[in-house]
Amino acid sequence: MTRLISGIHHVTAVSGDAQENFDFYTGALGLRMVKKTVNFEDPGVYHLYFGDTEGNPSTILTTFPYGRNLAKGRHGKGMVNTTAFSLEMGGLDYWLQRLDRFDIAYKHPQERFKDEVFVYLEDPDGLGLELVFSEGDLRKGYTDGSIPFEWAIKGFHHVEIWLEGIERTAALLTMQMNHQVIREGSGRIRLGAEDRPGKYVDLLAMPDVLRGLGGRGTVHHLAFETPDRESQIRMKNNLEDYGLQVTDVKDRKYFSSVYFREPGGVLFEVATSAPGFSVDEPVGSLGQSLMLPGQFEADRERISRLLPEIDYHSGGKQL
Ligand code: ZN
Repeated sequence: MTRLISGIHHVTAVSGDAQENFDFYTGALGLRMVKKTVNFEDPGVYHLYFGDTEGNPSTILTTFPYGRNLAKGRHGKGMVNTTAFSLEMGGLDYWLQRLDRFDIAYKHPQERFKDEVFVYLEDPDGLGLELVFSEGDLRKGYTDGSIPFEWAIKGFHHVEIWLEGIERTAALLTMQMNHQVIREGSGRIRLGAEDRPGKYVDLLAMPDVLRGLGGRGTVHHLAFETPDRESQIRMKNNLEDYGLQVTDVKDRKYFSSVYFREPGGVLFEVATSAPGFSVDEPVGSLGQSLMLPGQFEADRERISRLLPEIDYHSGGKQL
C-alpha cells in the first residue's frame, strides 16, 4: 500500500520586505528561488518559493512578503518556531564565517543527539531558523557557485513545533500520518516519516510559554507530502474520520492541497508531489519571471504594477 504521507513538502512563512526576503534566502543562505508567483488567495502579495535546483519536496521554504508594515508575530505554542536546514558537518566553519561576513547574528553552535551540531539564527523578519550540521544527507542542494557545492544547504533537516502538550499532535502524526518516533531526548520527541533529514518533525512540550501569534516572522503552515490526488483524498477521508475538519482540495498549480488545524493549533497542509515547479517554466529558468495561475493571467498588468520590483542582483550575492 502506498504511504499516504512521505515527509515534509514545504514550510510557508509570513515575511516583510520582498527584496530583503529574496536577498536573505538566495544571497546569504544560497537557496534558489524556484518560483515567483502571487498568493492565490490574495494576488496583491507575492508568493516566493526557495529550494534546491528543482524545488524538490522537503527543500522548499515559501514566503508571503506582506511588506515591512505588517505587524510582527510572536513565537510560541501552537506554532512551528524553528525551520532547520540540513548541511554537511564539515561545513560548520565555512558557515560561521559566512554568517559573520553577511553580518547575521547567530547563537553559538550546540550539540543535539550527539551527532548533530546546530546553529540558531533568524531571518530579517525574525523567522526562527537553524543550520543543522550532520553526516550522511545525500541530497545535493543548490549552488549558483557562491557557495562550494559540498557546503550548500541540502534541504530541510526538521521543523520544531512548540505545544502545550505533545500527546495529541504525536498521536495524529503516528496514527494517521505515517510518522514514527525516531528519537527522544534533549527535551524533544523527534518523529519522522523516515529516519533521515528532511523528514523530521520535532515536538516540544512548552506549557509555560505564551501561545504564538501569527504575523511577520512566523510560520503560516507546515505542508506534508502525499504522492498524488488519490492518496490525498484518502488522507482527507481518514482525517475527517479521525474528527478533524479538512478543507476541500485546492489547486495550487505546482501541487494540490488540503488544509486542517492539528489538535495543538498548527495549520497543516497535505500537498501532492506532482506536478512540481517545472509545470509552467523550464527548470533552467525557474523563478526568473512572474508566473500567474490562469485565473489571474488576464489581470497580469495590474497585478504586476501592485507588486514591488525584486532586483535579482541586489545586495546578497555581491558580499
Ligand atoms: Zn502551503
